[in-house]
Amino acid sequence: AKKNSTLNHFWYSFEIEEKTLWRIELIRRLTSAFERRELELWFQPQLCLNSMKVCGVEALLRWPDANGKFIPPNQFIPAAEYSGLIVDLGLWVFREALRSARMLHAQGYKDLTIAVNVSIIQLRSNNFAQNIKLLLSEFTVDPSLIELEITESVVMDEPDVVIQSLHQLKELGFKIAIDDFGTGFSSLSYLQKMPIDRLKVDRQFVQEFTPDTQAHIAETIIALAHKLNLSTIAEGVERPDQAEFLKEIGCEQVQGYLYARPMPLSNLFVHLQNQNNSL
Ligand code: C2E
Ligand code: CA
Ligand code: CA
Ligand code: CA
Repeated sequence: AKKNSTLNHFWYSFEIEEKTLWRIELIRRLTSAFERRELELWFQPQLCLNSMKVCGVEALLRWPDANGKFIPPNQFIPAAEYSGLIVDLGLWVFREALRSARMLHAQGYKDLTIAVNVSIIQLRSNNFAQNIKLLLSEFTVDPSLIELEITESVVMDEPDVVIQSLHQLKELGFKIAIDDFGTGFSSLSYLQKMPIDRLKVDRQFVQEFTPDTQAHIAETIIALAHKLNLSTIAEGVERPDQAEFLKEIGCEQVQGYLYARPMPLSNLFVHLQNQNNSL
């Protein structure tokens, strides 16, 4: 038995080492892709349920590989967070989002909101709000049309620093949403400490809907949001019955493959134009 456990231990550390090496290699490739400007920012429409029109978009990172496929953000974002690259990468995302926002607003889509994903690691980084303020002065976009989607993919260390950073961003005029609400480490007590405008219902609660089961969690999140004077958006809407139910329970906006997949900015312009033509 002793021999066996030594052997197990050997394989175990081998496995860990392999994972670490893989991660280091991923970070190396991501860093070089970033430096070579190979990353792209795509946009997925968000629709208002009462007008069924596009009211906003969410900016999502895309990393094309050599075969014309994409390496999923769920794989490389954690690596970017772990390595700290997310700080520079996140600033690039923000700059691209502001540049796109300015173009969209100049083209007449004046009320369109642009949601940008912001990692807790970024919020904890030095001078984050200050750097964002500089970007804002560079692009002169109305900050109330920019929404920061706060994702909790890592445990929130130093919550006071994060909360302070959010207050600074709020003071600059940005909107703030909690992403994937109900799935992460988010505690209800943060709802009172953070300057939040909107809750984003995670797609796992949307996809629970079937004609005979009820989506108790989605319904509860939306009721909670409204009690706290927050608005709501649900993601991962793939079927009309999900959208109907969300409308019934008072959800304001929806996002999902039922309406549109994430797309490059040029496609988004076409998408918005077609929508207007068909009205
Ligand atoms: P997220 O913020 O929850 O983004 C929503 C994800 O759901 C996106 O995946 C989107 O493509 C996908 N999605 C949209 N509609 C549907 C649908 O109807 N059904 C299903 N099954 N999925 C749908 P994506 O683009 O692969 O991004 C994954 C995650 O990576 C994001 O989840 C976000 O946490 C992170 N991420 C992406 N871009 C950024 C970024 O610029 N910064 C940071 N910090 N994180 C990012
Ligand atoms: Ca998001
Ligand atoms: Ca989400
Ligand atoms: Ca997510």
